[in-house]
Amino acid sequence: MTVARSVLDTIGNTPLIRLREASEATGCTILGKAEFLNPGQSVKDRAALWIVRDAERRGLLQPGGTIVEGTAGNTGIGLALVAGALGYRCVIVIPETQSQEKKDTLRFAGAQLVEVPAVPYRNPNNYVKVSERLAAQIAAEEPKGAIWANQFDNIANRQAHVETTGPEIWAATEGGVDAFICSVGTGGTLAGTGLYLKERNAGIRIGLADPPGSALYEYYSHGELRAEGGSVTEGIGQGRITANLEGAPVDMAFRIPDGESVALLFELLENEGLSLGGSSGVNVAGAIRMARELGPGHVIVTMLCDYGTRYASKLYNPDFLRSRSLPVPSWLEERSPISI
Ligand code: PMP
Repeated sequence: MTVARSVLDTIGNTPLIRLREASEATGCTILGKAEFLNPGQSVKDRAALWIVRDAERRGLLQPGGTIVEGTAGNTGIGLALVAGALGYRCVIVIPETQSQEKKDTLRFAGAQLVEVPAVPYRNPNNYVKVSERLAAQIAAEEPKGAIWANQFDNIANRQAHVETTGPEIWAATEGGVDAFICSVGTGGTLAGTGLYLKERNAGIRIGLADPPGSALYEYYSHGELRAEGGSVTEGIGQGRITANLEGAPVDMAFRIPDGESVALLFELLENEGLSLGGSSGVNVAGAIRMARELGPGHVIVTMLCDYGTRYASKLYNPDFLRSRSLPVPSWLEERSPISI
């Protein structure tokens, strides 16, 4: 029998899917790594598992211990599932302004929520800083231990991609991958996968796809962290060089406007059956730009980071799209297009 011993064995080993339209339009082979097939429906399950396993190895957690993180996103879902599988408690600190949809998703993944007022990062009561203090407090009081996952600066995050994402891409393309590109939240995916692939073959090109509002495009193009504007995409964009991003071997960077990434997202759904979150649109747009720069015949891999249903009230909501002056596909307006 080939069985998964727990849900943890189903994290990773995601397939590479050929993106037909992107490949045909560029003459390259553009492949998307189907991270929405992870049990928490996102790439962040990998980082969650590696952060928790690393803490266990360091003796910081015993069964019944607590994992704390400040996040409203996919990392919280990943941590909650990993905690459930391994017998830990998962406490997620989030700003109270987050949507009910996100709070419910976290709760139904098994997380206990601590809601705090939304204040900027420089304020000591910012949710990330509260999560760090809460972890230290629980660790001091609880004999079973507690950790602060600290996804931005805990390099167990990027190690997940050095040990899994990179080797999976190398194996699936039988060493034939020419380029890899993705966007950055913590930087774990880009740096970890990039470092692994460069070590296998220094000629593999690594690209950054950056949304407006993120400072990294300017950094990798001109050496200066500078951000402009904003984006509807969630989970990506960064204003600093996190510990995970340190030393990322970036060869090329592209700034992807929302109009371009969101239009692609709807095309991928309509024409290729792929329901995806906004960062995947930025990534595929980046892969297409990279293909045009490298020329036909290259194999380019990018990440399909999470599933579309997570964004029902935003990217897949006509009112939201209109409020941001983004195109609304006609099928999204039609609630019941077939009459019976
Ligand atoms: N896409 C989505 C939807 C995410 O939630 C994240 C993580 N915040 C990323 C992309 C970026 O991944 P990383 O943190 O590895 O840079």
